Amino acid sequence: MTASKIIIFDCDSTLSSIEGIDELACIAGDEVRQQIEEMTNAAMEGKIPLESVFAKRLEIIQPTLEQVTQIGELYIQRVEPSALSAIATLKQDGWLPIILSAGYVQAIQPLAEYLGISSIEAVPLLFNSDGSYQDFDRSYPTTRSGGKLEIVKKIRHKYSPSQIVAIGDGVSDLETKPGVNMFIGFGRYAVRDKVKTESSYFIQDLAEILSIIPDL
Ligand SMILES: [Mg+2]
Repeated sequence: MTASKIIIFDCDSTLSSIEGIDELACIAGDEVRQQIEEMTNAAMEGKIPLESVFAKRLEIIQPTLEQVTQIGELYIQRVEPSALSAIATLKQDGWLPIILSAGYVQAIQPLAEYLGISSIEAVPLLFNSDGSYQDFDRSYPTTRSGGKLEIVKKIRHKYSPSQIVAIGDGVSDLETKPGVNMFIGFGRYAVRDKVKTESSYFIQDLAEILSIIPDL
């Protein structure tokens, strides 16, 4: 497959204002939410490795398929206001959009469809036949620090693009910087100092992408 220009979007706190895992924790109650939010924040700020919280958060919450489906709806309700039109414009100009996330495939799928994005790189959750939580795909790269860069390298190998641009709010997104042509930090919903300092651009609105990326 070939695609000459690829734009990679983070999902949580980028394409949508929410952190899916925090919203799942919310369903489990205030105390669980606080505990989970602290873990998520520490990981997104790069203070602790993602793999140290990834399994733990899911083991605490034990999300059901129904709850994950609810989060899917919430991603759309809280979509970044300019995401739909910015992505449509990018596609018209020949960019292939890909979602790259440490979130869950089943939760992100509806948002991807809504935004017209056909390629999702995210963590598959595993459920029992009654919809109760079983496990997650423990081999999937974005369950650990550096995992997004691994996927970016695979994407580059698969498509041999002339350009890869990545955009996101977290340190896990910033880790893709060595593998992309341009990394754009996104700070509308969450500002991480390390991301703000080390990004080529730091924006607050996805429409701003259109004026800063190459060939537009
Ligand atoms: Mg994010």
